[in-house]
Amino acid sequence: LALKKVKGHYLVACGEYDESMHQRLLDEQSFINGMNEALKNREFLFYLQPKYELAGGKIIGAEALVRWLHPQKGFIGPNRFIPIFEQNGFILNLDKYIWEEVCKLLRSWMDEGRQIQPISVNISRVDLYDNDLVGFFARLVKKYDVPPRLLELELTESAYIDNPEKIVEITQRLQEMGFIILMDDFGSGYSSLNMLKDVNVNVLKVDLKFLQNTNHNNRSGQILNSVVHMAKCLELPIIVEGVETLQQSEFLRSIGCNWVQGYYYSKPVPIETYEKLIEQMDGAKDVEESAEICHS
Ligand code: C2E
Ligand code: MG
Ligand code: MG
Ligand code: MG
Repeated sequence: LALKKVKGHYLVACGEYDESMHQRLLDEQSFINGMNEALKNREFLFYLQPKYELAGGKIIGAEALVRWLHPQKGFIGPNRFIPIFEQNGFILNLDKYIWEEVCKLLRSWMDEGRQIQPISVNISRVDLYDNDLVGFFARLVKKYDVPPRLLELELTESAYIDNPEKIVEITQRLQEMGFIILMDDFGSGYSSLNMLKDVNVNVLKVDLKFLQNTNHNNRSGQILNSVVHMAKCLELPIIVEGVETLQQSEFLRSIGCNWVQGYYYSKPVPIETYEKLIEQMDGAKDVEESAEICHS
């Protein structure tokens, strides 16, 4: 690909204008033209990716991940449209919509008397520029009468670089209201430790993908081991995402990691599938057995 993305801007890296670049620019323009209608037409939806407790194999909750069911282009993943919507500010509208849809789902589970696990939602670094963000969350959980601890909030680590003071303030106010804050993509940014020193989060979320960029598997393993150990010292629960293989799962178990999320256990799935998984899981004794259920 001739495109290189630098600080949210596309640069032509090798001077050649190719088809894929052309397509990308066309996509970008059509996404922008269609976004408001798409929101009105409810073309955005979310999948749920289960999170598991390694030891017991039980589902402990899920992460809501947005998708765009486009009438012409079909199913579109967030990596294609979120950067565009972050640049033009539409992301806040989209995120507020998704957060509300998640609250509706939690409400319906409560009404049905289901066993309820929390769902985490993603907050874009751009959303943090909204001065009413905390107020929005307060009104949202009130409107649907949902306990704040059921709507977990994933904040990407890189947001800290934009505005450290604001992150500290916002996370504190949300926590006082009972929300759980997860620090997403921990370790992938440039100021992870600084961030950890200043921001009081409830859960660290480490993405295995950033460790896989290197061939030194032992080195990656040592780093992960150290992060898990550091989290223990700080009495911070940790969840590792991006777990794809049995070996990774076993390694995580051996270093005492409690919570996991990844394709090995389950891909993000539609709501109904998630509800079935929860029902099936009740019988499973072990996470490997759970994984078998997911893969069968
Ligand atoms: P994220 O929040 O770090 O979410 C994890 C991403 O990794 C998801 O991609 C998930 O499907 C993927 N993933 C999970 N397990 C594995 C695995 O084992 N291997 C691999 N290779 N990938 C795995 P997805 O759904 O494409 O979302 C990508 C990113 O888009 C998310 O990263 C998040 O930053 C953003 N995003 C998704 N939904 C929303 C949303 O509603 N609002 C905002 N602001 N951002 C969102
Ligand atoms: Mg996330
Ligand atoms: Mg992540
Ligand atoms: Mg990520």
